[in-house]
Amino acid sequence: MTAFTFVSNPFGTPSTPTTQDGWNPGSWQEHPAAQQPPWPDTAALDTVIDQLALLPPLVSAAESARLRAALGAAALGDGFLLQAGDCAESTGSFHADAVYNKVKVILQMSSVLAFGSGLPVVKVGRIAGQMAKPRSNPVEPVDGPSGPLLLPSYRGEMVNGSAPTPEARRPDPDRLLYAYYRSASSLNLLRMFTADGFATLDEVHAWNREHVAASADPRHAALLDDMDHVLRYLASRPGTQPGAPEQQGFDFFTSHEALILPYEQALTRWDHSGSAWHDASAHMAWIGERTRQLDGAHVEFAAGIDNPVGVKVGPTMEPEELLALCRRLDPTRDPGRLTLITRMGAGRIREALPPLVRAVRDAGYPVLWVCDPMHGNTIAGSGGLKTRRFNDIVDELRGFIEVHRQAGTHPGGVHLELTGEDVTECLGGTASEVLEENLSDRYETACDPRLNRSQALELSFIAAELLRK
Ligand code: PEP
Ligand code: MN
Repeated sequence: MTAFTFVSNPFGTPSTPTTQDGWNPGSWQEHPAAQQPPWPDTAALDTVIDQLALLPPLVSAAESARLRAALGAAALGDGFLLQAGDCAESTGSFHADAVYNKVKVILQMSSVLAFGSGLPVVKVGRIAGQMAKPRSNPVEPVDGPSGPLLLPSYRGEMVNGSAPTPEARRPDPDRLLYAYYRSASSLNLLRMFTADGFATLDEVHAWNREHVAASADPRHAALLDDMDHVLRYLASRPGTQPGAPEQQGFDFFTSHEALILPYEQALTRWDHSGSAWHDASAHMAWIGERTRQLDGAHVEFAAGIDNPVGVKVGPTMEPEELLALCRRLDPTRDPGRLTLITRMGAGRIREALPPLVRAVRDAGYPVLWVCDPMHGNTIAGSGGLKTRRFNDIVDELRGFIEVHRQAGTHPGGVHLELTGEDVTECLGGTASEVLEENLSDRYETACDPRLNRSQALELSFIAAELLRK
């Protein structure tokens, strides 16, 4: 460890320098901002924003820079991103056990993916800030106390409550402060888990053995046997310490959709050492499918921060539009700056993705391509519950890898909605198959359906097979 002294406080109250291009953390306000809640009391919002602006950053610019470097290596083919967590963090997600189980399943998946791909896996949670949701409809039908009701849509814990009452659905600016403190508490726990050894590689491997024993899939058992050999070989090397170094003090980064712009603005701080603006609400921020308009506020905001930035890319994206986004968000063509997270749907990926990949490849943008096999595969299940079929998720991932293999580009990662709990939100899986009639047993998501622990692990084994050269 290098000794480090703080000559001045890098995490102090921000000054607001004028940057050469005229960008500042509030310049998004000059652009149309989609999906902003109808705050009923803008004076109260301003007060909260002033308070947030004086609170400490949640993550440092140096940490975001480390993630940016890791994503840069992945963009050039030397790494694989595993970005995963809740669709929307809500009450249950903040419990220590929920955070523990999520980190555990992500570590297990990462070990399997690293083995399959032969690449370092960059671990990023949809966690410690993923509390705001874009909605297709401003109102939604709910079961009220005395029958069905149309209420303002639930927009995530950062904005309003999910309870089926008009009061709960009223956007409340105090929730932005609540989201900040919730993020800080989850992040503190993540830092505790990751600082000095959550588990050794041998322990992670033993957990994976338990999963494979339960799933009884011979292909997965064969992959674990191969891993056994490698682990034994490593242990036999002179000087090898028990427990793999990458599991001791490993990096686990945070990310969320940068949706509620006043919140992101208040947490954006001037980084003196890098001479750049840094959004200190998370290591990585992404722009959703509904807010990626070229002249919109979200793109304007993301263009000025030096965090690694992701953009969701759905089936209506045109090559020219995507190139314009690349120009805007990665003008200096810096690997690690821009991650394109494609979410086409299993039925469309093989037609929709190739022209986009070719356009970006031929224009020379060094983006990281990541597959979100969740959001293009949402269907209505029994009783109207939103669900996704495990097989569709696998098929989109398979299509993604095929397209990149054909284009000679790197299938650089996967973006998933998952939990470490045994929920019943997505259909299928083999170890403990979720059937239509089981959907309501443990349907606990605050928004979209997530893979449960066993489905998530199974997906990592399948992905490992697909990525194996
Ligand atoms: C999400 O990631 O939860 C989401 C809303 O995705 P998208 O913007 O791709 O629809
Ligand atoms: Mn979602």
